[in-house]
Amino acid sequence: MPSPQSILQEVFGYERFRGPQADIVDHVIAGGDALVLMPTGGGKSLCYQVPAIARERAGQGLTVVVSPLIALMHDQVGALHEAGVEAAFLNSTLTSQEAWAIEKRLARGELTLLYAAPERVTTPRFLALLDELRERGKLSLFAIDEAHCVSQWGHDFRPEYRALTVLHERYPQVPRIALTATADAITREDITQRLQLEEARQFISSFDRPNISYTIVEKKDGASQLLRFIEGEHEGEAGIVYCQSRKRVEEIAALLREHGANALPYHAGLEAEVRQAHQDRFLREDGIVMVATIAFGMGIDKPDVRFVAHLDMPKNIEGYYQETGRAGRDGLPAAAWMVYGLQDVVNQRRMIDESPSAEEFKQVMRGKLDALLALAEATDCRRVRLLRYFGENLADAGPPQGGEGPLGGQRGHEVPSVGARYSCGNCDNCVAPPRVWDGTDAARKLLSTVYRVQQHSGIGFGAGHVMDVLRGRQTEKVAQYGHERLSTFGIGAEFSEAQLRGVLRQLIALGALSVDSAAFNTLKLTEGSRAVLRGEVDVQLREAVSQAGRARKRKSV
Ligand code: ADP
Ligand code: ZN
Repeated sequence: MPSPQSILQEVFGYERFRGPQADIVDHVIAGGDALVLMPTGGGKSLCYQVPAIARERAGQGLTVVVSPLIALMHDQVGALHEAGVEAAFLNSTLTSQEAWAIEKRLARGELTLLYAAPERVTTPRFLALLDELRERGKLSLFAIDEAHCVSQWGHDFRPEYRALTVLHERYPQVPRIALTATADAITREDITQRLQLEEARQFISSFDRPNISYTIVEKKDGASQLLRFIEGEHEGEAGIVYCQSRKRVEEIAALLREHGANALPYHAGLEAEVRQAHQDRFLREDGIVMVATIAFGMGIDKPDVRFVAHLDMPKNIEGYYQETGRAGRDGLPAAAWMVYGLQDVVNQRRMIDESPSAEEFKQVMRGKLDALLALAEATDCRRVRLLRYFGENLADAGPPQGGEGPLGGQRGHEVPSVGARYSCGNCDNCVAPPRVWDGTDAARKLLSTVYRVQQHSGIGFGAGHVMDVLRGRQTEKVAQYGHERLSTFGIGAEFSEAQLRGVLRQLIALGALSVDSAAFNTLKLTEGSRAVLRGEVDVQLREAVSQAGRARKRKSV
């Protein structure tokens, strides 16, 4: 059998394997099952391509690669062709004649790798073809890419993935390698179970992307904050701006174009040809800013995306990590920038609450949202928080090791000293540690006010009114309900509105306050409120930034 190293050099033209690739390749060539968790850009493809070639040359036949991403199949098959490897794909873009021609090559044993969509792989027709190969001992390996799609806890659940268990059940002797760029503990567990990979060896890479700088700021007027971010730091560079709705995508794309940026919209409401044309331009031309919903990005491999901006908060940390991970795949400095505010929290909560899912599912989703909120509200290193979510402890790992890890020693970490605050040197909180204030007292006063207004009037109230009462403002609504007579009226006069908004977000993130979207976004106490009211929970908040920027911003839009 040719050595993996020689295949790497001769077929792919690379000098050496990166990070865990060599171990994975050895393990799979030897016939072991594997679950590979590696960040985007880490080099997952070689983990099955090299074994596929090695095993085929040793007479073991075909590797089937299951992938949901048509664009990626095309790219990879094209690249393999150029490298002289017999590869093909079967998906919905082929005519039945073309598909038939490929099936014939498959049956004749001419292919080393076949890429196929999951729904194709599990058809009786396709399984019959595999049966024949197996009979002849020419079915070598299954590679299941984007394996998180099997999990409903992941960010891209595809029911067709569930049916892939047939591969294991029908061909128990054929080794399998499952790969994903995103998996928190619960998703990882789910992949293992759903794909029956309990016995597979797990290869978990560092998920750190040292060249990406993370910044999360409070949303004031998102659109003009975005403009300043792009004009100030990324003029003329390629980037992706994620928005939640199609309407917002259109508005922001138009706004950026008005300001001279080369911006294009992308969302599921556009005609397929328009979407394709925009995607092609983004990939081919320099300096295009794609303004998109999360419909955009899966399988897009553009190395020089210099920034990924979130104008609305994603659903969870996996989504955030996956989307920001599209920046800087070339290893050069890139930025992940997000604005978020109370409204994002309210919207995301509402989407969960109003979804028709089972309560168990909603609980998991709420937990994931909370984790993202905690990341957004964090006053310490974002990178540490992000990686901790994926089960990695950056702060314990010591100084970065040159040349190790999937992206090689490019990180700019300082050596953490015992007792000192860990600094990655490349996130907003590490570059300019935010001033922190103790919001414990403000949090208690706010919760007391929520309680008092409700108790007094028999109905709940929204955040605006509660803050007015707390700050002792004589508004019409205050007069209407007689809330100036409450004991909590004006007990928070020393706090600014911005400070209180921070407290509100934090309380919601902590689960100590909920927003009832079915009742005009009224605030409600929760089980978790009690501990805060009793002063048992420390509420640490970022110092609200000055409002000076506002006037400037207003003018620019
Ligand atoms: P992933 O699927 O994990 O996002 P890819 O397999 O697309 O990553 O690889 C990302 C990039 O890194 C590709 O351009 C690939 O050619 C390159 N690459 C992968 N492994 C190596 C290696 N050992 N040496 C050099 N380049 C590599
Ligand atoms: Zn940091």
